[in-house]
Amino acid sequence: MDADIVSPSAAATAAANAAVDAATAVQNGDETAPFSLELSQDQRDIREWVHGFAEGVVRPAAAEWDEREETPWPIIQEAAKIGLYGFESLAQFFADPSGITLPMVNEELFWGDAGIGMAIMGTTLAVAGIFSAGTPEQLGEWVPQCYGTTEDPKVGAFCVSEPDAGSDVSSLRTRARYDEASEEWVLNGQKAWATNGGIANVHVVVASVDHELGARGQAAFVIPPATEGLEMGTKVKKHGLRASHTADVFLDDCRVPGSCLLGGKEKLDERLARAREGTRAKSQAAMQTFEASRPTVGAQAIGIARAAYEYALDYAKERQQFGRAIIENQAIAFTLADMKLEIDAARLLVWRASWMGRNNHEFTNAEGSMSKLKAGEVAVWATERAIQILGGNGYTREFPVERMHRDAKIYTIFEGTSEIQRLVISRAISGLHIR
Ligand SMILES: Cc1cc2nc3c(=O)[nH]c(=O)nc-3n(C[C@H](O)[C@H](O)[C@H](O)COP(=O)(O)OP(=O)(O)OC[C@H]3O[C@@H](n4cnc5c(N)ncnc54)[C@H](O)[C@@H]3O)c2cc1C
Repeated sequence: MDADIVSPSAAATAAANAAVDAATAVQNGDETAPFSLELSQDQRDIREWVHGFAEGVVRPAAAEWDEREETPWPIIQEAAKIGLYGFESLAQFFADPSGITLPMVNEELFWGDAGIGMAIMGTTLAVAGIFSAGTPEQLGEWVPQCYGTTEDPKVGAFCVSEPDAGSDVSSLRTRARYDEASEEWVLNGQKAWATNGGIANVHVVVASVDHELGARGQAAFVIPPATEGLEMGTKVKKHGLRASHTADVFLDDCRVPGSCLLGGKEKLDERLARAREGTRAKSQAAMQTFEASRPTVGAQAIGIARAAYEYALDYAKERQQFGRAIIENQAIAFTLADMKLEIDAARLLVWRASWMGRNNHEFTNAEGSMSKLKAGEVAVWATERAIQILGGNGYTREFPVERMHRDAKIYTIFEGTSEIQRLVISRAISGLHIR
Protein backbone atom coordinates (compact mmCIF):
# COMPACT_ATOMS: atom_id res chain seq x y z
CA MET A 1 0.00 0.00 0.00
CA ASP A 2 1.10 3.55 -0.74
CA ALA A 3 2.82 4.81 2.40
CA ASP A 4 1.90 8.38 1.48
CA ILE A 5 -1.78 7.71 2.05
CA VAL A 6 -2.46 9.05 5.52
CA SER A 7 -5.45 10.59 7.27
CA PRO A 8 -5.57 14.35 6.69
CA SER A 9 -6.78 14.89 10.21
CA ALA A 10 -4.74 14.21 13.29
CA ALA A 11 -7.71 15.28 15.39
CA ALA A 12 -10.12 12.61 14.22
CA THR A 13 -11.30 11.68 17.71
CA ALA A 14 -12.15 15.28 18.46
CA ALA A 15 -14.11 15.23 15.21
CA ALA A 16 -16.20 12.36 16.61
CA ASN A 17 -17.27 14.56 19.50
CA ALA A 18 -17.82 17.44 17.11
CA ALA A 19 -20.14 15.21 15.08
CA VAL A 20 -22.26 14.37 18.11
CA ASP A 21 -22.49 18.12 18.84
CA ALA A 22 -23.21 18.77 15.18
CA ALA A 23 -25.91 16.09 15.21
CA THR A 24 -27.56 17.74 18.18
CA ALA A 25 -27.31 21.17 16.55
CA VAL A 26 -28.87 19.79 13.37
CA GLN A 27 -31.65 18.10 15.33
CA ASN A 28 -32.31 21.43 17.09
CA GLY A 29 -32.24 23.27 13.78
CA ASP A 30 -29.87 25.93 15.12
CA GLU A 31 -27.06 25.59 12.61
CA THR A 32 -26.94 26.54 8.93
CA ALA A 33 -24.15 26.90 6.40
CA PRO A 34 -24.01 29.26 3.45
CA PHE A 35 -24.30 27.44 0.13
CA SER A 36 -21.33 27.49 -2.19
CA LEU A 37 -20.12 25.18 -4.93
CA GLU A 38 -16.53 26.21 -4.29
CA LEU A 39 -14.86 23.36 -2.43
CA SER A 40 -12.82 24.30 0.61
CA GLN A 41 -9.18 23.26 0.94
CA ASP A 42 -10.26 20.63 3.51
CA GLN A 43 -12.80 19.18 1.10
CA ARG A 44 -10.25 19.07 -1.72
CA ASP A 45 -7.67 17.41 0.55
CA ILE A 46 -10.13 14.76 1.68
CA ARG A 47 -11.23 14.10 -1.90
CA GLU A 48 -7.64 13.65 -3.05
CA TRP A 49 -6.85 11.42 -0.10
CA VAL A 50 -9.82 9.11 -0.75
CA HIS A 51 -9.15 9.18 -4.47
CA GLY A 52 -5.58 8.05 -3.78
CA PHE A 53 -6.87 5.09 -1.78
CA ALA A 54 -9.49 4.25 -4.42
CA GLU A 55 -6.91 4.36 -7.20
CA GLY A 56 -4.02 2.72 -5.40
CA VAL A 57 -5.73 0.09 -3.25
CA VAL A 58 -9.36 -0.44 -4.25
CA ARG A 59 -9.25 -0.44 -8.03
CA PRO A 60 -6.40 -2.94 -8.45
CA ALA A 61 -8.29 -5.39 -6.21
CA ALA A 62 -11.73 -4.92 -7.77
CA ALA A 63 -11.83 -7.76 -10.29
CA GLU A 64 -10.40 -10.28 -7.81
CA TRP A 65 -12.98 -9.63 -5.07
CA ASP A 66 -15.80 -9.50 -7.58
CA GLU A 67 -14.84 -13.01 -8.70
CA ARG A 68 -14.33 -14.27 -5.16
CA GLU A 69 -17.70 -12.91 -3.98
CA GLU A 70 -16.31 -12.47 -0.49
CA THR A 71 -15.98 -9.59 1.94
CA PRO A 72 -12.56 -8.03 1.25
CA TRP A 73 -11.42 -7.92 4.88
CA PRO A 74 -7.78 -7.03 4.04
CA ILE A 75 -8.98 -3.94 2.18
CA ILE A 76 -11.34 -2.94 4.98
CA GLN A 77 -8.35 -3.27 7.28
CA GLU A 78 -6.25 -1.07 4.99
CA ALA A 79 -9.04 1.50 5.05
CA ALA A 80 -9.15 1.29 8.85
CA LYS A 81 -5.36 1.67 9.08
CA ILE A 82 -5.31 4.92 7.15
CA GLY A 83 -8.30 6.21 9.10
CA LEU A 84 -10.82 5.99 6.27
CA TYR A 85 -12.90 3.27 7.92
CA GLY A 86 -14.16 4.11 11.41
CA PHE A 87 -16.35 6.31 13.52
CA GLU A 88 -13.80 9.11 13.64
CA SER A 89 -13.54 9.49 9.89
CA LEU A 90 -17.30 9.28 9.40
CA ALA A 91 -17.71 11.90 12.12
CA GLN A 92 -15.13 14.08 10.43
CA PHE A 93 -16.88 13.79 7.05
CA PHE A 94 -20.25 14.42 8.64
CA ALA A 95 -19.01 17.42 10.60
CA ASP A 96 -18.64 19.42 7.36
CA PRO A 97 -21.52 21.91 7.67
CA SER A 98 -22.01 22.05 3.90
CA GLY A 99 -22.90 18.34 3.85
CA ILE A 100 -20.78 17.79 0.72
CA THR A 101 -17.86 15.84 2.18
CA LEU A 102 -19.73 12.61 2.88
CA PRO A 103 -21.14 12.24 -0.67
CA MET A 104 -17.79 13.30 -2.11
CA VAL A 105 -15.98 10.57 -0.19
CA ASN A 106 -18.54 8.02 -1.35
CA GLU A 107 -18.22 9.08 -4.96
CA GLU A 108 -14.43 8.70 -4.89
CA LEU A 109 -14.49 5.33 -3.16
CA PHE A 110 -17.12 3.88 -5.49
CA TRP A 111 -15.21 5.31 -8.44
CA GLY A 112 -12.53 2.84 -7.28
CA ASP A 113 -14.96 -0.07 -7.10
CA ALA A 114 -18.54 -0.39 -5.95
CA GLY A 115 -18.36 -3.91 -4.48
CA ILE A 116 -15.40 -3.03 -2.28
CA GLY A 117 -16.89 0.42 -1.73
CA MET A 118 -20.03 -1.17 -0.30
CA ALA A 119 -17.97 -3.55 1.85
CA ILE A 120 -16.40 -0.44 3.36
CA MET A 121 -19.45 1.83 3.42
CA GLY A 122 -22.21 -0.72 4.15
CA THR A 123 -21.68 -0.10 7.84
CA THR A 124 -22.81 3.52 7.46
CA LEU A 125 -26.38 2.33 6.91
CA ALA A 126 -26.39 0.78 10.40
CA VAL A 127 -24.78 3.95 11.70
CA ALA A 128 -27.44 6.06 9.98
CA GLY A 129 -30.08 3.85 11.66
CA ILE A 130 -28.56 4.52 15.08
CA PHE A 131 -28.06 8.18 14.26
CA SER A 132 -31.62 8.80 13.13
CA ALA A 133 -33.40 7.06 15.99
CA GLY A 134 -30.87 6.83 18.83
CA THR A 135 -29.98 9.13 21.70
CA PRO A 136 -26.50 10.75 21.82
CA GLU A 137 -25.55 8.13 24.46
CA GLN A 138 -26.64 5.29 22.18
CA LEU A 139 -24.70 6.87 19.33
CA GLY A 140 -21.58 6.97 21.50
CA GLU A 141 -22.03 3.38 22.69
CA TRP A 142 -22.95 1.53 19.50
CA VAL A 143 -21.42 3.33 16.56
CA PRO A 144 -17.78 2.57 17.52
CA GLN A 145 -18.78 -1.08 17.94
CA CYS A 146 -20.10 -1.14 14.39
CA TYR A 147 -16.56 -0.41 13.22
CA GLY A 148 -14.41 -2.35 15.70
CA THR A 149 -10.76 -1.32 15.93
CA THR A 150 -7.98 -0.64 13.45
CA GLU A 151 -6.41 -4.03 14.21
CA ASP A 152 -9.73 -5.85 14.22
CA PRO A 153 -12.27 -3.97 12.10
CA LYS A 154 -15.92 -5.01 12.24
CA VAL A 155 -18.97 -4.19 10.15
CA GLY A 156 -22.53 -3.17 10.92
CA ALA A 157 -25.84 -4.17 9.30
CA PHE A 158 -29.19 -2.41 8.97
CA CYS A 159 -32.02 -4.91 8.65
CA VAL A 160 -35.41 -3.71 7.49
CA SER A 161 -36.40 -5.72 4.39
CA GLU A 162 -38.13 -9.06 4.74
CA PRO A 163 -39.11 -11.72 2.21
CA ASP A 164 -42.66 -10.30 2.10
CA ALA A 165 -41.85 -6.67 2.89
CA GLY A 166 -39.48 -4.95 0.48
CA SER A 167 -40.94 -1.76 -0.93
CA ASP A 168 -43.83 -2.06 1.49
CA VAL A 169 -41.94 -1.58 4.73
CA SER A 170 -45.19 -0.96 6.60
CA SER A 171 -45.94 -4.68 6.46
CA LEU A 172 -42.96 -5.98 8.46
CA ARG A 173 -43.65 -9.28 10.19
CA THR A 174 -40.69 -9.21 12.55
CA ARG A 175 -42.06 -8.58 16.02
CA ALA A 176 -40.50 -7.05 19.13
CA ARG A 177 -42.23 -7.76 22.43
CA TYR A 178 -41.29 -6.14 25.73
CA ASP A 179 -40.79 -8.59 28.59
CA GLU A 180 -41.61 -6.50 31.68
CA ALA A 181 -40.16 -9.10 34.07
CA SER A 182 -36.66 -9.13 32.58
CA GLU A 183 -36.87 -5.61 31.07
CA GLU A 184 -35.76 -7.08 27.78
CA TRP A 185 -37.05 -6.88 24.24
CA VAL A 186 -37.67 -10.21 22.49
CA LEU A 187 -37.42 -10.21 18.71
CA ASN A 188 -38.73 -12.84 16.30
CA GLY A 189 -38.76 -12.82 12.51
CA GLN A 190 -36.76 -13.05 9.30
CA LYS A 191 -34.85 -10.26 7.58
CA ALA A 192 -33.90 -10.47 3.92
CA TRP A 193 -31.02 -9.14 1.78
CA ALA A 194 -29.24 -7.45 4.66
CA THR A 195 -25.89 -5.95 3.69
CA ASN A 196 -23.40 -7.52 6.17
CA GLY A 197 -26.30 -9.54 7.61
CA GLY A 198 -25.05 -12.24 9.99
CA ILE A 199 -21.40 -11.17 9.78
CA ALA A 200 -21.96 -7.79 11.45
CA ASN A 201 -20.80 -7.00 14.96
CA VAL A 202 -23.85 -4.80 15.46
CA HIS A 203 -27.18 -5.37 13.72
CA VAL A 204 -29.78 -2.61 13.71
CA VAL A 205 -33.16 -4.28 13.27
CA VAL A 206 -36.46 -2.56 12.53
CA ALA A 207 -39.37 -4.51 14.00
CA SER A 208 -43.05 -4.04 14.66
CA VAL A 209 -44.04 -3.40 18.27
CA ASP A 210 -47.68 -2.74 17.46
CA HIS A 211 -48.73 -4.44 14.26
CA GLU A 212 -52.12 -2.68 14.13
CA LEU A 213 -50.33 0.66 13.62
CA GLY A 214 -48.42 -0.49 10.52
CA ALA A 215 -45.26 1.55 9.91
CA ARG A 216 -46.11 3.83 12.82
CA GLY A 217 -45.93 0.89 15.19
CA GLN A 218 -42.31 0.10 14.28
CA ALA A 219 -39.11 0.75 16.18
CA ALA A 220 -35.40 0.18 15.65
CA PHE A 221 -33.30 -2.00 17.94
CA VAL A 222 -29.60 -2.60 18.31
CA ILE A 223 -28.65 -6.25 18.50
CA PRO A 224 -25.30 -6.30 20.34
CA PRO A 225 -22.39 -8.51 19.26
CA ALA A 226 -22.81 -12.28 19.80
CA THR A 227 -26.44 -12.05 20.91
CA GLU A 228 -28.07 -15.47 21.03
CA GLY A 229 -31.04 -15.98 18.75
CA LEU A 230 -29.61 -14.05 15.78
CA GLU A 231 -28.44 -16.34 12.97
CA MET A 232 -27.31 -15.73 9.45
CA GLY A 233 -29.48 -17.33 6.77
CA THR A 234 -28.53 -17.94 3.15
CA LYS A 235 -25.81 -15.73 1.71
CA VAL A 236 -27.21 -14.26 -1.51
CA LYS A 237 -25.39 -14.76 -4.84
CA LYS A 238 -25.67 -11.51 -6.72
CA HIS A 239 -25.53 -9.93 -10.17
CA GLY A 240 -23.23 -7.15 -8.93
CA LEU A 241 -21.70 -5.63 -5.78
CA ARG A 242 -20.30 -9.10 -5.28
CA ALA A 243 -17.56 -8.09 -2.83
CA SER A 244 -20.31 -6.92 -0.50
CA HIS A 245 -21.92 -9.57 1.69
CA THR A 246 -25.72 -9.84 1.50
CA ALA A 247 -27.68 -12.40 3.53
CA ASP A 248 -30.91 -13.23 5.30
CA VAL A 249 -30.95 -12.87 9.08
CA PHE A 250 -33.12 -14.97 11.41
CA LEU A 251 -34.25 -13.72 14.80
CA ASP A 252 -35.45 -16.50 17.02
CA ASP A 253 -36.43 -15.38 20.53
CA CYS A 254 -33.57 -12.95 20.30
CA ARG A 255 -33.39 -11.10 23.64
CA VAL A 256 -31.78 -7.70 24.04
CA PRO A 257 -31.66 -5.34 27.05
CA GLY A 258 -34.32 -2.62 27.22
CA SER A 259 -31.61 -0.05 26.50
CA CYS A 260 -31.22 -1.48 22.98
CA LEU A 261 -34.42 0.18 21.83
CA LEU A 262 -33.17 3.19 19.88
CA GLY A 263 -34.56 6.41 21.30
CA GLY A 264 -35.72 4.74 24.52
CA LYS A 265 -39.04 3.31 25.74
CA GLU A 266 -40.51 6.54 27.00
CA LYS A 267 -40.24 8.14 23.59
CA LEU A 268 -41.63 5.02 21.92
CA ASP A 269 -44.62 4.88 24.28
CA GLU A 270 -45.39 8.54 23.58
CA ARG A 271 -45.11 7.96 19.85
CA LEU A 272 -47.38 4.90 19.98
CA ALA A 273 -49.93 6.80 22.07
CA ARG A 274 -49.97 9.62 19.47
CA ALA A 275 -50.37 7.06 16.68
CA ARG A 276 -53.30 5.39 18.50
CA GLU A 277 -54.98 8.79 18.90
CA GLY A 278 -54.54 9.23 15.16
CA THR A 279 -52.14 12.19 15.39
CA ARG A 280 -50.06 12.51 12.21
CA ALA A 281 -46.53 11.21 12.64
CA LYS A 282 -43.53 13.09 11.29
CA SER A 283 -41.64 9.97 10.26
CA GLN A 284 -41.09 6.27 10.85
CA ALA A 285 -38.02 4.34 11.99
CA ALA A 286 -36.97 2.93 8.59
CA MET A 287 -38.03 6.00 6.63
CA GLN A 288 -35.98 8.34 8.81
CA THR A 289 -32.87 6.33 8.00
CA PHE A 290 -33.56 6.16 4.27
CA GLU A 291 -34.24 9.91 4.06
CA ALA A 292 -30.87 10.59 5.63
CA SER A 293 -28.91 8.12 3.54
CA ARG A 294 -30.42 8.51 0.05
CA PRO A 295 -28.14 11.33 -1.20
CA THR A 296 -25.07 9.41 -0.03
CA VAL A 297 -26.28 6.32 -1.86
CA GLY A 298 -26.81 8.51 -4.92
CA ALA A 299 -23.20 9.65 -4.64
CA GLN A 300 -22.07 6.02 -4.78
CA ALA A 301 -23.97 5.57 -8.03
CA ILE A 302 -22.31 8.69 -9.43
CA GLY A 303 -18.90 7.23 -8.57
CA ILE A 304 -19.68 4.15 -10.67
CA ALA A 305 -21.07 6.24 -13.55
CA ARG A 306 -18.04 8.54 -13.54
CA ALA A 307 -15.64 5.59 -13.57
CA ALA A 308 -17.41 4.10 -16.59
CA TYR A 309 -17.55 7.45 -18.36
CA GLU A 310 -13.84 8.13 -17.85
CA TYR A 311 -12.93 4.64 -19.04
CA ALA A 312 -15.11 4.99 -22.13
CA LEU A 313 -13.72 8.45 -22.92
CA ASP A 314 -10.13 7.22 -22.85
CA TYR A 315 -11.03 4.14 -24.86
CA ALA A 316 -12.89 6.19 -27.50
CA LYS A 317 -9.82 8.35 -28.01
CA GLU A 318 -7.57 5.31 -28.43
CA ARG A 319 -9.70 2.90 -30.40
CA GLN A 320 -9.30 3.26 -34.17
CA GLN A 321 -11.90 2.17 -36.72
CA PHE A 322 -12.25 3.31 -40.31
CA GLY A 323 -8.86 5.00 -39.96
CA ARG A 324 -9.81 7.35 -37.10
CA ALA A 325 -10.45 7.33 -33.39
CA ILE A 326 -14.03 6.28 -32.72
CA ILE A 327 -14.60 9.48 -30.70
CA GLU A 328 -14.35 11.43 -33.95
CA ASN A 329 -17.80 10.09 -34.79
CA GLN A 330 -20.55 12.29 -33.38
CA ALA A 331 -22.50 9.22 -32.32
CA ILE A 332 -19.73 8.39 -29.86
CA ALA A 333 -18.71 11.94 -28.93
CA PHE A 334 -22.30 13.04 -28.28
CA THR A 335 -22.91 9.97 -26.14
CA LEU A 336 -19.88 10.89 -24.05
CA ALA A 337 -21.08 14.50 -23.86
CA ASP A 338 -24.45 13.30 -22.62
CA MET A 339 -22.80 10.98 -20.11
CA LYS A 340 -20.79 13.84 -18.64
CA LEU A 341 -23.88 16.08 -18.62
CA GLU A 342 -26.07 13.53 -16.86
CA ILE A 343 -23.43 12.67 -14.28
CA ASP A 344 -22.85 16.32 -13.40
CA ALA A 345 -26.60 16.97 -13.21
CA ALA A 346 -27.05 13.99 -10.89
CA ARG A 347 -24.19 15.18 -8.70
CA LEU A 348 -25.80 18.60 -8.31
CA LEU A 349 -29.01 16.95 -7.12
CA VAL A 350 -27.02 14.84 -4.67
CA TRP A 351 -25.12 17.84 -3.34
CA ARG A 352 -28.32 19.86 -2.99
CA ALA A 353 -30.01 17.10 -1.01
CA SER A 354 -26.90 16.54 1.11
CA TRP A 355 -26.70 20.23 1.92
CA MET A 356 -30.41 20.32 2.76
CA GLY A 357 -30.17 17.21 4.93
CA ARG A 358 -27.12 18.44 6.78
CA ASN A 359 -28.67 21.86 7.40
CA ASN A 360 -31.97 20.47 8.61
CA HIS A 361 -34.06 21.65 5.65
CA GLU A 362 -37.14 19.54 5.20
CA PHE A 363 -37.27 17.65 1.88
CA THR A 364 -40.60 19.22 0.93
CA ASN A 365 -40.33 18.04 -2.68
CA ALA A 366 -38.62 14.76 -1.76
CA GLU A 367 -35.24 16.13 -2.81
CA GLY A 368 -33.46 13.19 -1.17
CA SER A 369 -35.46 10.75 -3.29
CA MET A 370 -34.90 12.88 -6.40
CA SER A 371 -31.15 12.70 -5.94
CA LYS A 372 -31.05 8.94 -5.47
CA LEU A 373 -33.48 8.31 -8.32
CA LYS A 374 -31.54 10.42 -10.80
CA ALA A 375 -28.12 9.12 -9.75
CA GLY A 376 -29.21 5.46 -9.86
CA GLU A 377 -30.77 5.77 -13.30
CA VAL A 378 -27.80 7.72 -14.65
CA ALA A 379 -25.44 5.04 -13.36
CA VAL A 380 -27.35 2.24 -15.09
CA TRP A 381 -27.63 4.23 -18.33
CA ALA A 382 -24.02 5.50 -18.35
CA THR A 383 -22.48 2.10 -17.64
CA GLU A 384 -24.60 0.55 -20.40
CA ARG A 385 -23.43 3.30 -22.79
CA ALA A 386 -19.83 2.61 -21.73
CA ILE A 387 -20.23 -1.04 -22.72
CA GLN A 388 -21.58 0.10 -26.09
CA ILE A 389 -18.59 2.40 -26.64
CA LEU A 390 -16.17 -0.42 -25.83
CA GLY A 391 -18.01 -2.78 -28.21
CA GLY A 392 -17.12 -6.46 -27.77
CA ASN A 393 -14.45 -5.59 -25.23
CA GLY A 394 -17.06 -3.86 -23.10
CA TYR A 395 -19.00 -7.11 -22.80
CA THR A 396 -16.06 -9.09 -21.45
CA ARG A 397 -14.67 -9.44 -17.95
CA GLU A 398 -11.29 -8.35 -19.29
CA PHE A 399 -12.57 -4.77 -19.16
CA PRO A 400 -14.10 -3.15 -16.06
CA VAL A 401 -17.20 -1.53 -17.56
CA GLU A 402 -19.03 -4.86 -17.58
CA ARG A 403 -18.58 -5.10 -13.79
CA MET A 404 -19.56 -1.45 -13.37
CA HIS A 405 -22.78 -2.10 -15.26
CA ARG A 406 -23.61 -5.05 -13.01
CA ASP A 407 -22.78 -2.98 -9.93
CA ALA A 408 -24.83 0.01 -11.09
CA LYS A 409 -28.10 -1.89 -11.43
CA ILE A 410 -28.69 -2.23 -7.70
CA TYR A 411 -28.99 1.56 -7.45
CA THR A 412 -32.43 1.44 -9.05
CA ILE A 413 -33.48 -1.22 -6.54
CA PHE A 414 -32.15 -0.85 -3.00
CA GLU A 415 -32.86 2.00 -0.60
CA GLY A 416 -36.18 2.29 -2.43
CA THR A 417 -36.66 1.24 -6.05
CA SER A 418 -36.92 3.89 -8.78
CA GLU A 419 -40.70 3.38 -8.77
CA ILE A 420 -40.87 4.00 -5.04
CA GLN A 421 -38.74 7.16 -5.39
CA ARG A 422 -41.18 8.40 -8.04
CA LEU A 423 -44.04 7.56 -5.70
CA VAL A 424 -42.42 9.56 -2.89
CA ILE A 425 -41.74 12.52 -5.21
CA SER A 426 -45.19 12.52 -6.76
CA ARG A 427 -46.83 12.40 -3.32
CA ALA A 428 -44.60 15.25 -2.11
CA ILE A 429 -45.30 17.54 -5.07
CA SER A 430 -49.03 16.80 -5.26
CA GLY A 431 -49.96 16.38 -1.63
CA LEU A 432 -52.07 13.44 -2.82
CA HIS A 433 -51.85 9.79 -1.87
CA ILE A 434 -50.71 8.58 -5.30
CA ARG A 435 -50.60 4.78 -5.54
C1 LIG B 1 -27.63 -6.15 -2.87
C2 LIG B 1 -28.76 -5.78 -1.98
C3 LIG B 1 -28.49 -5.19 -0.76
C4 LIG B 1 -29.53 -4.84 0.09
N1 LIG B 1 -29.24 -4.34 1.33
C5 LIG B 1 -30.25 -4.15 2.22
C6 LIG B 1 -29.96 -3.79 3.56
O1 LIG B 1 -28.80 -3.63 3.95
N2 LIG B 1 -30.99 -3.67 4.43
C7 LIG B 1 -32.29 -3.85 4.03
O2 LIG B 1 -33.17 -3.72 4.86
N3 LIG B 1 -32.59 -4.20 2.76
C8 LIG B 1 -31.61 -4.37 1.85
N4 LIG B 1 -31.90 -4.74 0.56
C9 LIG B 1 -33.31 -4.92 0.15
C10 LIG B 1 -33.81 -3.83 -0.78
O3 LIG B 1 -33.94 -2.62 -0.07
C11 LIG B 1 -35.13 -4.30 -1.43
O4 LIG B 1 -34.79 -5.31 -2.35
C12 LIG B 1 -35.87 -3.18 -2.10
O5 LIG B 1 -36.39 -2.29 -1.15
C13 LIG B 1 -37.01 -3.66 -3.00
O6 LIG B 1 -37.84 -4.56 -2.34
P1 LIG B 1 -38.22 -5.96 -3.03
O7 LIG B 1 -36.95 -6.55 -3.52
O8 LIG B 1 -39.04 -6.74 -2.09
O9 LIG B 1 -39.06 -5.57 -4.29
P2 LIG B 1 -40.66 -5.42 -4.35
O10 LIG B 1 -41.11 -4.49 -3.30
O11 LIG B 1 -41.28 -6.76 -4.41
O12 LIG B 1 -40.84 -4.70 -5.77
C14 LIG B 1 -40.84 -5.42 -6.98
C15 LIG B 1 -41.13 -4.43 -8.11
O13 LIG B 1 -42.45 -3.85 -7.91
C16 LIG B 1 -42.34 -2.44 -7.88
N5 LIG B 1 -43.32 -1.90 -6.95
C17 LIG B 1 -43.61 -2.29 -5.68
N6 LIG B 1 -44.55 -1.52 -5.13
C18 LIG B 1 -44.87 -0.59 -6.07
C19 LIG B 1 -45.77 0.51 -6.11
N7 LIG B 1 -46.53 0.83 -5.05
N8 LIG B 1 -45.83 1.26 -7.23
C20 LIG B 1 -45.08 0.96 -8.30
N9 LIG B 1 -44.19 -0.08 -8.32
C21 LIG B 1 -44.09 -0.83 -7.22
C22 LIG B 1 -40.92 -2.18 -7.43
O14 LIG B 1 -40.50 -0.87 -7.79
C23 LIG B 1 -40.16 -3.27 -8.14
O15 LIG B 1 -39.91 -2.88 -9.47
C24 LIG B 1 -30.88 -5.06 -0.32
C25 LIG B 1 -31.14 -5.65 -1.56
C26 LIG B 1 -30.11 -6.02 -2.37
C27 LIG B 1 -30.43 -6.70 -3.67
